[in-house]
Amino acid sequence: MGKMISIAIDGPAGAGKSTIARRIAAELGFYYVDTGAIYRTVAYFMDLLGISPKDTDGVERYIDELTVGIEYDEDGLQHMIMNGMDVTGDIRTQDISQKASLISAQPVVREVLLDMQREVARQHNVVMDGRDIGTVVLPEADVKIFLTATPEVRAQRRTDELMAKGQKADFNKILAEIKQRDHQDTHRDIAPLKMSRDSVKVDSSELTIDQVVETIRKVVAEKVGL
Ligand code: C5P
Repeated sequence: MGKMISIAIDGPAGAGKSTIARRIAAELGFYYVDTGAIYRTVAYFMDLLGISPKDTDGVERYIDELTVGIEYDEDGLQHMIMNGMDVTGDIRTQDISQKASLISAQPVVREVLLDMQREVARQHNVVMDGRDIGTVVLPEADVKIFLTATPEVRAQRRTDELMAKGQKADFNKILAEIKQRDHQDTHRDIAPLKMSRDSVKVDSSELTIDQVVETIRKVVAEKVGL
């Protein structure tokens, strides 16, 4: 097996990472790995067991009971399999977003997931999105992008997304949650969200999805000739 190509896309919640990463992966024929979904699956599992994401002892005690699988459907959508059960839809709630952010600060969780993420990148060409891909998971990634946008723009996008699905959405509440998650994700001790020196910053606040994809494709072309 030759060396695989990896593209790391990190950034705060709601910057558009998954939409962009999925598009780029599809265009290049790479695997798309949404690492946030893996943290969400751990949070969901512990939540079902009634274990608080802040309960280090509880999380350490039960983490071995969890097997996380990643599968892809024909549209390239990533499905999360928790002990054999597809939980893809269940992990997309505001409650699990907050719990995933808290549980991701638990050292044992990061340790277990680190190997899993590296293994996928060892076997496949990947576009991997998360918070610490370019800094910790794949420090040797061929391309590193830091995708960001202002908290207000990110909150507005989430609000629009929820409303488009016919769900209730309160902009101010969503903005407060995004700011809280930013704070937790950038201030934790291990693998905090931060831009690595060798990554290219892309601010999507004023850009359309197509423009962001185009910007990143140019970086990919420059770095790996694809
Ligand atoms: O990206 P998403 O919002 O699904 O991520 C959920 C949470 O998982 C984030 O708030 C973050 O705390 C955590 N996460 C992480 N490292 C990653 C991806 C996600 O800590 N690589």
